[in-house]
Amino acid sequence: MSESLKEQTPKLVKAQKLVGVKGMNDILPPDSARWEWLEGQVRSLMARYAYRNVRLPIVEPTALFVRGLGEVTDIVEKEMYSFEDRLNGEQLTLRPEGTAGLVRSVVEHNLLYEGGKRLYYMGPMFRHERPQRGRYRQFHQIGAEVLGFGGPEVDAELILLANDLWKVLGLKDVRLELNSLGQPLERQAHRAALIAHLERHSEVLDEEAQRRLHTNPLRILDTKNPAMQSVVESAPRLLDFLGEASMTHFNAVKAMLDVNGVAYSINPRLVRGMDYYNLTVFEFITTSLGSQGTICGGGRYDYLVEQVGGKPAPAVGWALGVERVLELIKEQGEALPDLAPDVYAIIPETAALPVAMQVLQTLRACGVSAHMHAGSGEGMGMGMGSMKSQFKKADGSGARFALVFGAEELGRGQVAIKSLRDGEGAQRTESLLAVADWAHSLQSPS
Ligand code: ATP
Ligand code: MG
Repeated sequence: MSESLKEQTPKLVKAQKLVGVKGMNDILPPDSARWEWLEGQVRSLMARYAYRNVRLPIVEPTALFVRGLGEVTDIVEKEMYSFEDRLNGEQLTLRPEGTAGLVRSVVEHNLLYEGGKRLYYMGPMFRHERPQRGRYRQFHQIGAEVLGFGGPEVDAELILLANDLWKVLGLKDVRLELNSLGQPLERQAHRAALIAHLERHSEVLDEEAQRRLHTNPLRILDTKNPAMQSVVESAPRLLDFLGEASMTHFNAVKAMLDVNGVAYSINPRLVRGMDYYNLTVFEFITTSLGSQGTICGGGRYDYLVEQVGGKPAPAVGWALGVERVLELIKEQGEALPDLAPDVYAIIPETAALPVAMQVLQTLRACGVSAHMHAGSGEGMGMGMGSMKSQFKKADGSGARFALVFGAEELGRGQVAIKSLRDGEGAQRTESLLAVADWAHSLQSPS
């Protein structure tokens, strides 16, 4: 139907209600307050560690993820939202994670030219998974990445940063699992031994494991299939194949965590989902969220920068799942941050609106949060509603004070202030000229 025809057609049938995409959630008040609070805590902590923020596109060339994450990974095999650019046929993908795009950006803008970088990002990621608690199709990650430094001290710093974040967020019941994936040559030797072991038990391998046996056997180790657990447990350990340099790096990370009082356990089967990791890998896990218990994962990825076309540079980072962290905070019974305004303005007649609005602007400029009563716009009185209904709304808002802009008080150059919470005194009046002083008295601790 052409645009003009559409406009001429009267709406006879009620439009069908449209709903959002499955697994992609709206984040609404009051929950959004927790999101803002968490983001604020992250920003402040990142500043204390001298990490800088980056904001990157949500769409990237598909090739970036295929090349960066590896072809035989859950994400690239089955979880990406990919599409073709209608205009030029370019293959594009909604980012399923943040590291590949960040590395692409660092290389593209030559950010490592003058030395290493400590960066962080926050934002939505997209994976076509089966939606369930803690697993969504649009979800949010916060990630921290350090590029250009190869020493174990940045691995340790990143772990300390995450650990501090759990502290400021008040998270309990989070444990750290640590492993080392060594270097490519060490992995090759282990891989041959692993394939031989798995082939000896090929009768218990499920279809996915059979498929991965010669493409990505390491990933078979983090299978959740109970029937394969004993084969996986008796498999040769990658840790036993690490040479001296890899062990030195691993031991240094552990020693730095020990010195800083960070508890961890070694999990030799921790391999992580992406191909790009080497040396240190780690996950923060909670038992409070059922099977979606991994809230944060990361590790070193010293070959990704080169893979994406940059000059070789070491790198290490982690990403946390915001929904899972918030669920954990909720689980632990943390109260929502107080969303109530300080002041609710009761405006009996529209004639009082201009003065009321000016007073509210003054209050807001003083840092007081002020909610203006608004009418329906109907009828001669413009639908401001009765005093009774306005007071009811003021109570419902949770505001500490109602400011009543009655004609009588305004005539005397005053406004009535009524305490809505117990114990803060009854109604009194304040000169319109002195509302800024009153606002400041609200700010200072009594
Ligand atoms: P899982 O094993 O749970 O699928 P993953 O290894 O795929 O996790 P990463 O790619 O390491 O996850 O992403 C880092 C973090 O992002 C995870 O630890 C988790 O907290 C979160 N996360 C990953 N996928 C989802 C999702 N679909 N919905 C919500 N959070 C997710
Ligand atoms: Mg996954």
